[in-house]
Amino acid sequence: MTAEALPAELRRAIVQIARTPRLLVACDYDGTLAPITLNPDEARPLPESVGALRSLAGLHETTTAVISGRALRDLATLSRLPAEVNLVGSHGSEFDIGFIHALDDKARELHRRLEAELEQLVLDVPGVSLEVKPASIAVHVRRAEHEAGRRVLADVHSGPSTWEGVSTTDGKEVVELAVVQTDKGRALDILRHQVGATAGIFLGDDVTDEKAFARLSGPDLGIKVGDGETLAAFRVPDTVDVALVLGFLLEERRNWLYGESAPPIERLSMLANERSVALLTPDAKLTWLCHPGPDAPA
Ligand SMILES: [Mg+2]
Repeated sequence: MTAEALPAELRRAIVQIARTPRLLVACDYDGTLAPITLNPDEARPLPESVGALRSLAGLHETTTAVISGRALRDLATLSRLPAEVNLVGSHGSEFDIGFIHALDDKARELHRRLEAELEQLVLDVPGVSLEVKPASIAVHVRRAEHEAGRRVLADVHSGPSTWEGVSTTDGKEVVELAVVQTDKGRALDILRHQVGATAGIFLGDDVTDEKAFARLSGPDLGIKVGDGETLAAFRVPDTVDVALVLGFLLEERRNWLYGESAPPIERLSMLANERSVALLTPDAKLTWLCHPGPDAPA
């Protein structure tokens, strides 16, 4: 499949956003870069998406990020994304590995109480698992028997979810309780501010991604992956189409930044005197020159 498979309107929107001065490309991980798997430890991203993100990250004035509900450490291990791609874990509460030290005593105490309470709640319910992250705890019921899973989720909502200082995020077959206030929308805002992005694109499949879609405006572009209600302006069916979107965005942005017919560097000729250096294309057009001296801007 090629980018031709994408709806014409979406292609036009991608062409448009590829021409923004400073672009932020952000996406969710599970269900967006990586197909959903029964065992969350086996969720690997599509190589095409990884390749496109890596290349986008290498372009000028282009920042890429993956904002996931997973703990940052897991996300880094599992995704094996290159260092140029920014990783944000736990719905935006972990921007780097050292985050745990930023929790104050009160939050740490609440985290401990939460863990103890949740362990009690899921005790003896087969298939339900707790994922303890630095600033939150996720309760996964994907592998539990349906009724039992519903019961655990209801208990969590009527119990620790109501505690002061706890913020709840519902996902597909998972509920996450955090001891800091955060969501993917805030994470997106922080990234956007950091890089001074003039437009951002966000892709995501889960209800938690709606917080990010809600923060988009103006020239931004939101793409929902799969079914379900959404605030995003566009929708694609699955992770294969995400790879197409990222690939097409890369192609368009690269062309816009460097010119569609830019000759490869080995075909350029260098001219220099003692004062300056210039590069010429094979048809003798000046394409790069530092003036007035070799240390001046091109
Ligand atoms: Mg997801």
